[in-house]
Amino acid sequence: MRRFKFIRDPLATDFGHNVEEFLRELGGPTCFFLSGADNSRTRALVTLLHGNEPSGAMAFFRWLKSGRRPAVNVVCIVASVAAALEPPLFSHRMLPRARDLNRCFRPPFEDAQGMLAEEILEILRMHHPEAVIDLHNTSGSGPSFGVCTHMDRQHDALVSLFTQRLIISHLGLGALMEISEHAYPTVTVEVGGRQDEEAHELAWEGLCRYFESPSVLDEGDTDWGLDLLHNPIRLELNEHVTLTYAESPRDNYDITLCSDIEHHNFGGVTPDTLLGWANASERSLFTAQDAGGRCAVTRLVRIEDGKLYPAGPLKLFMITNNAAIAQSDCLFYAVNDDGRPIG
Ligand SMILES: [Zn+2]
Repeated sequence: MRRFKFIRDPLATDFGHNVEEFLRELGGPTCFFLSGADNSRTRALVTLLHGNEPSGAMAFFRWLKSGRRPAVNVVCIVASVAAALEPPLFSHRMLPRARDLNRCFRPPFEDAQGMLAEEILEILRMHHPEAVIDLHNTSGSGPSFGVCTHMDRQHDALVSLFTQRLIISHLGLGALMEISEHAYPTVTVEVGGRQDEEAHELAWEGLCRYFESPSVLDEGDTDWGLDLLHNPIRLELNEHVTLTYAESPRDNYDITLCSDIEHHNFGGVTPDTLLGWANASERSLFTAQDAGGRCAVTRLVRIEDGKLYPAGPLKLFMITNNAAIAQSDCLFYAVNDDGRPIG
């Protein structure tokens, strides 16, 4: 069964006056094909894998309205339209009880989300794009960054269309960017907070560079000067551990994280940076695995007199201040403060 709607070279007047009307018009997952000035090559843009991350869809809508023509063909996939439209607009990462679509890009493709992911992979295969960019927002406010599974000049060049920070991660979570290993250069770009005007603007500027540059894959020796973060480790909560965010410890929760913990995003933390409070041992509360599959919990955090600290000088990022996301995904990612993996 085809879930996707296919639209080729739409007119600027086709889709309402704002992004909400645009999504209502689409009604469900949609694949656009835009003919480029050079129609021998194709680039792909994927966005709205998460329904609560509007910047990419807003930027693409703005592009359609502008009536501009891309340098090469563009395939744009707008995925979780139904989740995005579930009121209030752009508040649902996915529909209730559905799997996270950006964890579904590997078999088995059995449930609805898996089949949607499989169809996205088929669309990409059909068009064989020279590059794929998957645009996201972070849940809280924070700076932009790119993520890819391995680093080379092509991935660097793609990320640098948007941002100067690049995370290299081999976590194998079933994210779309993992197809890079055996298909086309694919990067995830997190343009910043989902409610930040700056993030919407960055998505727009980066999208224009991506659509309009004759070449987006590095062909020279350019040093993009990216700030690299290698093989981060995820700090996850154990099953049934309760978590809240507050300015002081809350008795009814196993863990209270400082409400301003997000401010450490991409900044350095030291062993005496207070992250929050906890009432049990590190390993009973948290799970973390290094690249070799060993437990890394006590290399990430330490609990002393009920206070939670980093285990050493670290760089933390993708810190969430949303307990639901912390519970279903992770609290944060960490590397050593020099950007190297935690050994
Ligand atoms: Zn996302």
